[in-house]
Amino acid sequence: MGFWKRIIRYVVITINEQGFEYEAGGKLISCSQCGNTRFFKGKAQLNTKDMTIWGLDYFDKSAKTICCTQCSFTYWFGKSPVNRTLLK
Ligand SMILES: [Zn+2]
Repeated sequence: MGFWKRIIRYVVITINEQGFEYEAGGKLISCSQCGNTRFFKGKAQLNTKDMTIWGLDYFDKSAKTICCTQCSFTYWFGKSPVNRTLLK
């Protein structure tokens, strides 16, 4: 699939709030709560007290999160899961 087709697909899916399929460890991720396979990706800041004291929270690491479009159950990952929908 070409670059522009991926961009258009990304925009259409985001606007329609369908969510994307992701894989981690070579397997499709499905929600452990409801079994849905569609998620939206996000980030969560991992604050440490040392950086917070100095007001430098921005420089702390962040975790990658994916949130189920059906029940909002959220998974946390250290490395970004692969977006399977855009690879098709
Ligand atoms: Zn769910």
